[in-house]
Amino acid sequence: MTEEAVKTQGQLLTEKLSFSIKNCWETASPEERQAISQFAEQYKNFLAKGKTEREFTAQCVSVLKREGFITIEEALKQNGKLAPGSKVYQHVKGKSLVFAIIGTKPLQEGVNILSAHVDSPRIDLKTNPLYEDSEFALFDTQYYGGIKPYQWTAIPLALHGVVITKNGERRDICVGEDEEDPVFTITDLLPHFATDQMQKKASEFISGEELDILAGSEPFTDDKAADKVKLTILHLLYAQYGMTEEDFASAEITFVPAGKLKDVGLDRSMIGGYGHDDKCCAYTAFYGALYFVDPNHALEKTIVCLLTDKEEDGGGNTGPRSRYFENFLKYLYAKVTNNYMDIDVCLLLSNSSMLTADVNAAYDPNYSEVYDKKTAPYFGKGIALSKSGTGNDANAEYCQKVQGIFNRNNIRWQYGGWGTVDKGGAGTIACIFANLGIDVLDCGIPVLSMHSPFEVISKIDLYTAYKGYKAFLKDA
Ligand code: MN
Ligand code: MN
Repeated sequence: MTEEAVKTQGQLLTEKLSFSIKNCWETASPEERQAISQFAEQYKNFLAKGKTEREFTAQCVSVLKREGFITIEEALKQNGKLAPGSKVYQHVKGKSLVFAIIGTKPLQEGVNILSAHVDSPRIDLKTNPLYEDSEFALFDTQYYGGIKPYQWTAIPLALHGVVITKNGERRDICVGEDEEDPVFTITDLLPHFATDQMQKKASEFISGEELDILAGSEPFTDDKAADKVKLTILHLLYAQYGMTEEDFASAEITFVPAGKLKDVGLDRSMIGGYGHDDKCCAYTAFYGALYFVDPNHALEKTIVCLLTDKEEDGGGNTGPRSRYFENFLKYLYAKVTNNYMDIDVCLLLSNSSMLTADVNAAYDPNYSEVYDKKTAPYFGKGIALSKSGTGNDANAEYCQKVQGIFNRNNIRWQYGGWGTVDKGGAGTIACIFANLGIDVLDCGIPVLSMHSPFEVISKIDLYTAYKGYKAFLKDA
């Protein structure tokens, strides 16, 4: 034994008593690195085709159908009970998704739930958006979610949307994602003219109202027509999608950063792009839950996965405050017990465990003053557990239970925090489910530049989340 290998009492005590969080890359084997990189590629491809909540959940539903899931409505029409191994889902108005795999244990003993959200900050069109000014066609917008408006100027944007025509036909629109597609943009002022603008506060120098989108500049060829550039755009929209100006009032049209996600860094250890909040957690939760479709991985407890819309603004019948989630559990309970009369899911709820899988603000050395270095989550150090600070103060018993699950399964976890006291803060949907009596803990992936058009995550944290969510569903 060399002299260096003999540890002092102090060194041994430190090892035993202190909690040190190491960078996961340092112990990753070549096989793990390959799995991490493959998982990241699949995620990048999925997200590039799932930038809106409709697109994201539609992709999920096609996977669920392939895996033999049926809708809860179909299940209710069938005779008999839902047996262990049954797979059911509900796609709520095409925007939120909840699905379950039935276990062998009675539902009153509780279910294990992963929840994440599939909406992300973006630029929505107003209901009467198209106008002409100085021979430009422009779209008037209203941003969705908490954004810093100046970040959304002078970048290429893509249009994603759904138009319902007067005869009830649905037209899905996506312009700006194909290599050959045109893109859109919100202009910014040249520095040479910006002396006054640069004196303003960042919250004011580009206001939300100024985020109008450049849509065209070529007048319709007709001497007698008015607003001829606007007419060109209306004409194109009618020719391609059968929509008229009136249909904007009902359409859901949104603009998001154009293009695919990219590896970041010479070492390719990170992924940059639009929509990580919270689709990186939604993706890992989705595939974490799907792992248990395989009968060889069947669980005793029923597992539920909720991918909800409208986290960023809270409202709507597809949002986390809507009753659809509770109702899904009621349908499930009725169908598993074959009792449709006194459906009481209170016991089910209060015995259930949930992780709210949502991103956390990663420590950023560029802005160190707003982070608490001791509790901030760091890139490469695993999934972040946030006990409090989100309107949900999870109890010690439940937190220790989750920490134990991760420790036993070799899942690397770290502290999740929301910044310096009185300087930082944010909410997740945890408190909504805590209100139903469920044990809930926030657990997600650290993100840099959150809510910007180019958010960044670590590939190893993405993969750790996937493994961690699987471990939770299995052991909670
Ligand atoms: Mn958010
Ligand atoms: Mn979020």
